[in-house]
Amino acid sequence: MNDCESMKPLLMGMMDGELTPEQASAVTRHLDRCEACRREFEELRAACDPLRELVFREPDRERLARLWRTPFSRFTYHAGLLLVLVGWLVLVGYAAVAIAGDNKAELPVKLALAGIVVGFVILFANVLVQRLATWRQDPYKEVER
Ligand SMILES: [Zn+2]
Repeated sequence: MNDCESMKPLLMGMMDGELTPEQASAVTRHLDRCEACRREFEELRAACDPLRELVFREPDRERLARLWRTPFSRFTYHAGLLLVLVGWLVLVGYAAVAIAGDNKAELPVKLALAGIVVGFVILFANVLVQRLATWRQDPYKEVER
């Protein structure tokens, strides 16, 4: 197809919207017929689009920003989780000691504290079992027998 050679310079112009209406319709007609040029046009567009989106389109700029933020947000997530967990453990431990040493502590308070501790142990065991299960399924680790 000799047409293809003459189309190539026009593909770029087509993407930039710089062709005359006649040229544009000629390119469109050719792309309808010719799969090779259609593919080339798609590749050209894929190569150029991220650049344009970065500059002109708000949603994609947001997407990029989110991408950059991800490692940081993951770190802050774990740091926050750790702080809450440690603070919570200290608080519960402190309350447990205080209540154990105080015979006048009300039953509901004791029950609430016991519930929190037992619930935490259950949750912790649950997570531990899940971690172990995924660890065993990990193809890079040796399978336990
Ligand atoms: Zn072609």
